[in-house]
Amino acid sequence: MAKHSKAIAGRKSTAKKSGAGSAYAALKAVVDDLVAANRILYNEDIVDGFGHISARDPRDPSRFLLSRARAPGLVTAADIMEFGMDGEPVKDKGKPIYSERFIHSEIYRARPDVNSVVHTHSPTVVPFSVTNEPLLPIRAGFLYPEVPVFDTRDAAGWTDLLISNPMLGKALAEKLGNNSVVLLRGHGNAVVAPDVRVAVYRAIYTEANARLVLQAKMLGGPIKYLAPEEAAIMNAARTRVRPGHGSDRIWELLKSEAMGPSGKRGHRA
Ligand SMILES: [Zn+2]
Repeated sequence: MAKHSKAIAGRKSTAKKSGAGSAYAALKAVVDDLVAANRILYNEDIVDGFGHISARDPRDPSRFLLSRARAPGLVTAADIMEFGMDGEPVKDKGKPIYSERFIHSEIYRARPDVNSVVHTHSPTVVPFSVTNEPLLPIRAGFLYPEVPVFDTRDAAGWTDLLISNPMLGKALAEKLGNNSVVLLRGHGNAVVAPDVRVAVYRAIYTEANARLVLQAKMLGGPIKYLAPEEAAIMNAARTRVRPGHGSDRIWELLKSEAMGPSGKRGHRA
């Protein structure tokens, strides 16, 4: 009997150890992807000195991981911090942190399906946030059902346009609704996805799609946008992770460029 209990206890402690090991492996995988995501978005000119990307903590869905306040092109694994749903750091208090972290906290709170959030000042999307021209999909099927525009003026009157408190973050998350992208008037966008790699893909293709709309408009005449039915078929294929296809293929290429010795498309020493 004693022998039997000991055997069970032994199994339990092995299970506990391997549980902790797999949680660590899951965390390390997400942190590695976050670091690469910061570098890729900088390398692709989607973020500059500003902008950030986060991931929900794989160990605890009520927390998320985000770099300390730092230019995305310089972020390393040591910079990644844990935050709670109040947008405040769990530990390492006193480190400089992004003032717009409430974009992330309030979207994670409102959208249990979202595991990664990107905030950018992606230049070509900004004109769509200050005019009545909707950002409709030509290539980016995930822009359906719509790309709403959030205006800080409606939520809080005169501000510096930054989402720097939980009230503005909550209002932004409400405007996002169940969509994948929300524009911030005169400022940029927030892009959400089920994981970091798809979030990076969507942030890049939101900017690319905005450029295509502007170019198509210069040619004149009506634009034949992607039909919702076509978008649904594309989305089903693109959000499925298949090695060598879709966002996986883009990720592998862009990561090798961004993390390589030359960086910034070979222009940086
Ligand atoms: Zn911003």
